[in-house]
Amino acid sequence: MQLLSDRILNMATSATLAMAAKARELRGEGKDIIGLSLGEPDFNTPDFIKDAAIQAINDNYNSYTPVDGYAELKDAIITKFKRDNNLTYTPNQIVVSTGAKQALFNIAGVMLNDGDEVILPCPYWVSYSDIVKLFGGVPVEVKTSIDTDFKMTPEQLEAAITPKTKMMWFSSPCNPSGSVYSKEELQALVNVFEKHPDIYVVSDEIYEHINYGKGHTSIAEFESMYDRTITVNGVSKAFAMTGWRIGYIGAPEKIARACNKLQGQATSGANCIAQRAVITACNESPEKVKYMIDEFKGRRDLILGLLSDIEGFKCNVPDGAFYVFPNVSYFFGKTLKGTKINNASDFSLFLLEEALVATVTGEAFGNPDCIRISYAASTEQIIEAIKRIKEAVS
Ligand code: PMP
Ligand code: GLU
Repeated sequence: MQLLSDRILNMATSATLAMAAKARELRGEGKDIIGLSLGEPDFNTPDFIKDAAIQAINDNYNSYTPVDGYAELKDAIITKFKRDNNLTYTPNQIVVSTGAKQALFNIAGVMLNDGDEVILPCPYWVSYSDIVKLFGGVPVEVKTSIDTDFKMTPEQLEAAITPKTKMMWFSSPCNPSGSVYSKEELQALVNVFEKHPDIYVVSDEIYEHINYGKGHTSIAEFESMYDRTITVNGVSKAFAMTGWRIGYIGAPEKIARACNKLQGQATSGANCIAQRAVITACNESPEKVKYMIDEFKGRRDLILGLLSDIEGFKCNVPDGAFYVFPNVSYFFGKTLKGTKINNASDFSLFLLEEALVATVTGEAFGNPDCIRISYAASTEQIIEAIKRIKEAVS
């Protein structure tokens, strides 16, 4: 009998994590790799959050928590949703999970039946498509390009909808393009959804606070969307807490209760100390972490400036998150230092081997013309990395 399930054999490895692991491995061999593959802030978790965690340990928070999160944490998340997003939720609509990734797993697990279609505007975050497929869903990719700032138009949305469409998943600010949907652009999509009242939306807002001035709108703010939007968020990015593993949703009660049920059979709930720390994070004003956002903005401008000096790198100006997503199709078909570049994966691998810079192929995000470069790294690393890339391709 076959050892491993078809389910796992058919699943792709997370390209972001695989590239980070490869970079780590090469570093272990003594190679001076600059890692710009992983979307992970290089800041320390702020002291006010660390202090809350230390306090929780000393206060002997060591037992299982309620599966969907401590009541105080759910209250803090409700406060956050009201304060930042003008969204009103009750405790039964909130579920705290082990990262936004588990929140997405839960949603797919409780909502998808075999053959249900999920619209994914491309580029999408690397894990969406495999999470959807794991639970029997069928990803329907909607291609966008740099010409529309990698955003899906209402016409494209309309064209992608079929009688089997169950949901659409998207992130704004977007990982990997950094694009932010304005209120007007969301309104145009909402106009289409209003003609299709049975379609749900997963709005992944984990980069909400990493926004360089356009302002953030949650699609659930539109009255016709509130009852069919699952708003996903978490503390990994804005609070530099990737390893703490806390994410959460605000959702229609039926969906939230189903996620609670699924999670009760999976993890029994998120880590208790991390949950206590996140109460503090959610109750504080996002102003507290603005110093990191300001720094990311400076790095965005830096990397865009440096890349504009390299022939063949065509970038949009990302309004949020901490990635650039240059179109590098200029290099396809060319031979660089003896290596034939056929596609974005070849190019990303070439950069790793020749420039010792780790990036991620756009293929993992549903866009085979681009690569993703994270600028959640020090300015010195960014300057050195782009210098090496320039040398490798020229
Ligand atoms: N959504 C997006 C768009 C992401 O970039 C990430 C990356 N970490 C996640 C969800 C998952 O975040 P986490 O599980 O760390 O909360
Ligand atoms: N979300 C981050 C990224 O896109 C972290 C890696 C992951 O969770 O896949 O790089």
